[in-house]
Amino acid sequence: AFSLLASRHILVTGVANRWSIAWAVAQSIVKAGGRVTFTYQGESQRSTLEKLLSELPSVGPAPLLLSLDVKNDAEIVAVADRLAKENLRLDGLVHSIAFAKREELDGAFLETSREGFILAQEISAFSLVALCRAFLPLLNPQASIVAMTYLGSERIVPHYNVMGAAKASLEASVRYLAHDLGAKGIRVNAVSAGPIKTASGRAIKGFVDMQKAVADRAPLKGQELTSEEVADATVALLSPLMRAVTGEVLFVDLGYRQMGMF
Ligand code: NAD
Repeated sequence: AFSLLASRHILVTGVANRWSIAWAVAQSIVKAGGRVTFTYQGESQRSTLEKLLSELPSVGPAPLLLSLDVKNDAEIVAVADRLAKENLRLDGLVHSIAFAKREELDGAFLETSREGFILAQEISAFSLVALCRAFLPLLNPQASIVAMTYLGSERIVPHYNVMGAAKASLEASVRYLAHDLGAKGIRVNAVSAGPIKTASGRAIKGFVDMQKAVADRAPLKGQELTSEEVADATVALLSPLMRAVTGEVLFVDLGYRQMGMF
């Protein structure tokens, strides 16, 4: 597996802490021989990233860390400009960003506010469009873009609420982007991860029940889904092994979604 992403440079968003799916993805990319540039949201995430990186055995030059709040167009442009200035092209992008107001991941979907609905869409779905557009001049042919999504986009998962609508929008965006970028050989896919205990996961009121449902019902029994498993599937999509796959949602959920009867 070491050479799967040899000499490939991947931009990884969404590392908030050591439990972030994006952190597992970054480690899998490095194990596969790839090089990572990170974006972070806010200065405290920058120091968290520095600390996490200091725990890893060093592989090549220290990775670039770039500030990126996807609500801010100027920051998106600044990331693209900085990469261009460093002469760094991209072979991949990992979108691992989502946000909803905590109170909207609790009560009834019916109570979703206008502002909260728009905010979840903007940060969790539109950001993928914005990043693809801004980074397009930097993307190499055969580049691969992967976004993180969840089953709540297509099934009712109690309490997932406004984020379910945002993930539906994200997955549709993956398909339309796959169409637009396909002529350049660029692929766009989503990984639909089963529940993983991260800061964002735990913010959902029904999170423990979501995990229990997978443990009780998924075909792959007796194994708890890990972020490493999600990360390795992401590396597969980033790699040339998946060069004919685009516009797809790949479920990395121990098979849970396929169950018709419990
Ligand atoms: P996390 O809290 O570690 O990561 C979420 C990230 O989103 C954070 O790094 C945060 O900084 C970033 N973010 C939020 N608003 C942002 C903004 N305005 N600009 C830039 N970044 C912003 O949690 P996670 O579980 O690792 O989530 C990563 C992705 O995986 C999300 O898209 C999430 O919906 C998805 N996902 C998670 C699970 C799960 O069970 N944890 C399951 C399926 C999909």
